[in-house]
Amino acid sequence: MTKIPKSIGQVIEKYQRNAPVNVVGIANDLGINVWERQSLVPPVSGMICPDKINGGESGFSIIVRKGDPLARKRFTVAHEIAHFILHRDKASDGITDDAMYRSGLSSKEETEANRLAADILMPYTLVQNLVNEGFKSVPQLAGKLGVSQTAMSIRLNIPT
Ligand SMILES: [Zn+2]
Repeated sequence: MTKIPKSIGQVIEKYQRNAPVNVVGIANDLGINVWERQSLVPPVSGMICPDKINGGESGFSIIVRKGDPLARKRFTVAHEIAHFILHRDKASDGITDDAMYRSGLSSKEETEANRLAADILMPYTLVQNLVNEGFKSVPQLAGKLGVSQTAMSIRLNIPT
């Protein structure tokens, strides 16, 4: 897992005991409110921004596009949580991601956020538990974890 502060790691781990990982629960515990809005216009798929009125205790909100598929929205929430953890110092004007998870940040930072998002949604211990319970195929694991089959395949190093 990406190196992150221990207190934040503990919050995430608490939610990783059961599948699917409750990403909104993680966000809320970190003091971030999560909103779905119809008004996000493609290609924007998500953002994290300071939000004095509707934000959580941290002062931030995550907004995802209401019309996106559930697995997509879950990945977007995890990706924006990752920006909050890793790049909060650059989020004072908000970070807006398009459908390819590109924003004003560098591609290195986007890669970091995608990696941490995968760590959050598909922890290897939980994947292993599911495999032990008999959920062995990519579609089964993706369904249990609430992620896309593409994300699951990448996580398992299966060519997509
Ligand atoms: Zn991003």
